[in-house]
Amino acid sequence: MTSAILAANWKMNGDRAAVAQRLSWVLDSCEKLKKIQWLLFPPFPYLSMCHDQLAKSPVALGAQDVSAYTEGAYTGQVSAAMLQDVGAEYVLVGHSERRHGLAENDVLLAQKCDLALQSGLSVIFCVGETQDERLAGKSESVVLSQLAVVEALLKRESNLSERLMVAYEPVWAIGTGLIAKSEDVMSMHQAIGRKLALSCQSTARIPLLYGGSVKSSNAAELISIEGVDGFLVGGASLTKDFIKIGEICSN
Ligand code: PEP
Repeated sequence: MTSAILAANWKMNGDRAAVAQRLSWVLDSCEKLKKIQWLLFPPFPYLSMCHDQLAKSPVALGAQDVSAYTEGAYTGQVSAAMLQDVGAEYVLVGHSERRHGLAENDVLLAQKCDLALQSGLSVIFCVGETQDERLAGKSESVVLSQLAVVEALLKRESNLSERLMVAYEPVWAIGTGLIAKSEDVMSMHQAIGRKLALSCQSTARIPLLYGGSVKSSNAAELISIEGVDGFLVGGASLTKDFIKIGEICSN
């Protein structure tokens, strides 16, 4: 039985040596921490290396982005088929650093999710409000409207619940050391869960992750919140603190 899902978003950090070290930490711990579902999202160039080293382990591999197109003249992009070819099973879609830093909009995110899922990848779809939206009291309406992308897919296809997770990541909490209040995380996760259940064709629950400055110092409190099934971890996943988070979530 899984006690928590722990996804490491390494973003654009490290080199072969750093990746090898992070892999060794996870590989050394995953047998002991069997109840954790480990998912690693390295930068594209290290996917093959990670795949080779993770073979025969229970640790799953994902990519930080996917093209909205299948193949062709899209310089610099990486297709869902290519990701699968090098061993990725998951992909992140809708991360705030792509929504806000690279102006990815709902239309593009819908194409990416659709193609990734059709190709057989599983998707972690990220949602979250900015600080301005939060201060304007719009957190819930913003996050629920971002879910429209996956609701449409859930309505169309059965069994998607097994290949979709949603990560609630308040933009103001990502990489800032700021943490949302437990009651706010709980009510947002409840609202997201209710909204997704309405579109889901099966009764299976879609796992909901929390992300935003998760560390070993706050993991115990966050994982105890009803409706939090695990974490999407950025900064702390670059260090051994990620393993400590795993130990805390195993208990
Ligand atoms: C993230 O980028 O998804 C994230 C949650 O980052 P951090 O843990 O550093 O806030």
